[in-house]
Amino acid sequence: MKSDVFFVPVESPELEARLQALKKLLDRISGFLKYSKDELVPIKITIGDSTCVYHVQPEMIKQVVSVLKNQKAKPFLFDTSVIYHGMRQNAYDHLTLAQNKGFHPTKTGAPFIIADGLLGQDGREFVIEAQHIKKIRVPSFVGMLESLVVVSHATGHVISGYAGAIKNVAMGMSCRATKQVQHSSLKPSIIQDKCTACGCCVRMCPVDAIAFNKNNKAQVDPAVCVGCGECLCACKFDAVYVNWAEEADVFGARMIEVCQFILKQFKQKFFITFAFDITQECDCISTKKDRMISKSLGIFASSDVLSIEAAVCDCLSDEYNFFKTHDVYKKMFSYGEKIGLGSFEYNLIKIED
Ligand code: SF4
Ligand code: SF4
Repeated sequence: MKSDVFFVPVESPELEARLQALKKLLDRISGFLKYSKDELVPIKITIGDSTCVYHVQPEMIKQVVSVLKNQKAKPFLFDTSVIYHGMRQNAYDHLTLAQNKGFHPTKTGAPFIIADGLLGQDGREFVIEAQHIKKIRVPSFVGMLESLVVVSHATGHVISGYAGAIKNVAMGMSCRATKQVQHSSLKPSIIQDKCTACGCCVRMCPVDAIAFNKNNKAQVDPAVCVGCGECLCACKFDAVYVNWAEEADVFGARMIEVCQFILKQFKQKFFITFAFDITQECDCISTKKDRMISKSLGIFASSDVLSIEAAVCDCLSDEYNFFKTHDVYKKMFSYGEKIGLGSFEYNLIKIED
């Protein structure tokens, strides 16, 4: 059955215009969002890493928070620690970065927590019966709270091609061990002829899986590699090779399985995806100079994670032909639909003046 996806177009780079558009969208969908008095409602956000400037702004988060507060709920913002280098590897640095970027209750209207503890290890473990994933660890409120709101920024992604709500849930709502399990099928190797021995990948690898061999070329030790993809981003000489046909598909399938398990634990979930400033790299690694892969499109909202992802990607693929040439993400959608994550088909309801 088709799910509804609401869409308000906004191409303007101005914050005020974007806030107006968001208000229009929230006015239209607020009737679907029902929260109880004093209900604790987690809102999944990402503040981006220290170099990212295109993440969803605190002022927009505040408007989403207001919808819940108007119903006397108790919304809180959360994210988890990441597995690669940067300012979000532990709660201390992550919270400091959040403050510096303006994610403070005075600006967002709600507290921000790091839901998997100081070092990304605190959570509940579940045994699951999926094809690729057998055990996951997630923040302990998963399975205890009834509602979830997921606020995502649509961007490209170094492995799956696109990062939106599914990645925000599957990676962003997992403790570090479960992030690593999802990545672990990705075992890059180095094309020796292309390696210039610049050393960037060696410095960036979080687990010291890369060293120079006797020919002074970088070499990955697959027994140590956790598949984080950092070396792919680090190499400017196309020397890091990934077997996309196999590894990326398994990576996608694992994300789908984790996403489905997490979402099943919530009775009510809602997804809002901001498709503007659509950088080639995701918010974990993008910079101010990052290439835009599309013009800004607008804001999407749905209660179906698969439908909202399909709608954003369909709009994106008019400009960004990744989806026509590289079908990792489409395979993820198909697998998601097969295991009951949501509907690949949707009704796009455009909200205009
Ligand atoms: S070798 Fe590459 S993918 Fe593997 S852990 Fe190191 S940086 Fe990550
Ligand atoms: S970043 Fe690329 S060129 Fe530099 S050492 Fe690593 S593989 Fe070689």
